[in-house]
Amino acid sequence: MILSVSARKKLHALVSFLLAAALLVVGLLSAPLVQAGPRADKVYRQAASYYNNSRGFFVRDLSRNQWQECLRLFEKAYECDPRDQKVAPKALYMMAIIYSKAYEQFNMREDLKAAASYYEKLTFGFPDHSLADDAMVALGKIALKNRDNLEMLGKERLLNKALAMYGADQGVNDTAGFLLKRLQEHAEQRGIEPLPPAKSTIVNSITPPAHAAHVSRPVRFWSNENYTRVVIETSAPVRFKEHVLKAEGSLPPRLYVDLFDCRIPPTYQNPITISDGLLKRSRAAQFDPSTARVVIDLETFSQYKIFSLHEPFRVVIDITGTRQQKESTATVEQQRAWQADKEFTLVEQLGLGVRTIVIDPGHGGKDPGAVGRNGLLEKDVVLKVALKTRDALRKKGYRVVLTRSTDVFLPLEERTAIANTENADLFLSIHANSAPNRKARGLETYYLSLATSKEEKQAAALENAVSSKQLSELQDILSDLMKNSKIDESRKFAGTLQHSLAGGMQKRFNRVKDLGVKKAPFFVLIGAQMPAVLAEVAFLSNTEEEKRLGNDSYLAALAMELANGVDSYNRSLVAFGPSFD
Ligand SMILES: [Zn+2]
Repeated sequence: MILSVSARKKLHALVSFLLAAALLVVGLLSAPLVQAGPRADKVYRQAASYYNNSRGFFVRDLSRNQWQECLRLFEKAYECDPRDQKVAPKALYMMAIIYSKAYEQFNMREDLKAAASYYEKLTFGFPDHSLADDAMVALGKIALKNRDNLEMLGKERLLNKALAMYGADQGVNDTAGFLLKRLQEHAEQRGIEPLPPAKSTIVNSITPPAHAAHVSRPVRFWSNENYTRVVIETSAPVRFKEHVLKAEGSLPPRLYVDLFDCRIPPTYQNPITISDGLLKRSRAAQFDPSTARVVIDLETFSQYKIFSLHEPFRVVIDITGTRQQKESTATVEQQRAWQADKEFTLVEQLGLGVRTIVIDPGHGGKDPGAVGRNGLLEKDVVLKVALKTRDALRKKGYRVVLTRSTDVFLPLEERTAIANTENADLFLSIHANSAPNRKARGLETYYLSLATSKEEKQAAALENAVSSKQLSELQDILSDLMKNSKIDESRKFAGTLQHSLAGGMQKRFNRVKDLGVKKAPFFVLIGAQMPAVLAEVAFLSNTEEEKRLGNDSYLAALAMELANGVDSYNRSLVAFGPSFD
């Protein structure tokens, strides 16, 4: 049984309200504000004392009521000021310990779940507190002990965050064990005793002041010779401003981004030497108490674009250099293999047509995309179509890279980054649509531009997973983001693809509706350096189309027509290529 807290919470809310009202009056009278700190500290010490006294010198088991009383006292200390850097993390840690001890004693799953969630709250709410590592180690231990039953604990949330935070590779065997080892190393490096006894948590610690947001993951980047995308993720939306510094003396060209009212935990402050094509090095630091700064050292610099995405909030920076793009990273043998079944033309041998296509099956992992009335998931359907399209294109001699080939979650910005770093000639994102009107049906192909119709806006809000307000903010800055994008080529590619897709499917099946070429600001298309389109192959919200998408031969037909569309576009390029007479 979890403590029943709702009644107390209501009372607490009322008290908080009265207190806030009183403080406001005090504030208006210009009297000094009451500090929450000393009171929280006092309440915490009372709780700690009760805890120590009940357990006694010879640690003994407590009754359920005693555990609940301990919990109540630490919760009270926490609620004095949940953002207080000194008391709140210690109180969270103690609540987690109490729940895990209660779990050891009573073996109730709910207690373990609560323990994990308090450790998690501490780790992510106070990432630079000295107990954050210990909480992470404790989480790792819980994950390890319960590895057969991680679903119950919210495995994905717990482990993915922990792994991302410490930069561990995914797909390692026995993830939890690996995580634990990494965390213990980390804690030892920082000279922190893993899992201190309860008493040592009452030590004072000096930590920087709390702010509304913090950098919540290591800075991520994708890079090749002439392009890099850098992504900074924060716990809440922040204001930001970028600056460019030209190369001077021995210093390389640099771009830095200041994030205001934002902290960066020490864990993420180390400089990372990357030396990966355009990107030389990335450094992040707390520039002043309220400003986090990320500096990017570059090999060469030509231009950049910067924009933000929501939920989670991240700042995306695309930078291009001045180097000539390499024609291809493929060896001659590889190219021969890809083109084994294909007749060589001079134009193709010169690399003038389409060689590499990046196919992006939408959604994946924790993001199911649209859900059909009978439960079919967009992420599963589009993955099947993408795999079949890849096979069909390979048979035609193209090189194909998938952004995902399994059921994994991939942020939108990473998909475009893959296409850019692979030097892809085309980018094709595959989706299935959904609409409030269940009669809506058909297939359509989008390219990046302002959405004008209601349907276009609806589709973009859905695929971007944003509100219509966030969408209109994006529309405002879109014209800037689209400069130097291959918009004309994308429109042409969309037209050719849609013609093949709709025309081809109509020949094979009845009641296939051609909705034509449309335009909308899809995040996944922003920053693509090649013609890029998004195909919506059907409406999952339409029962008949959902049924069709459950049928493998229908998916195979879609894949065949998508591949034909790519091929037609390539042939149109080659036809208009230079003459070699
Ligand atoms: Zn989608």
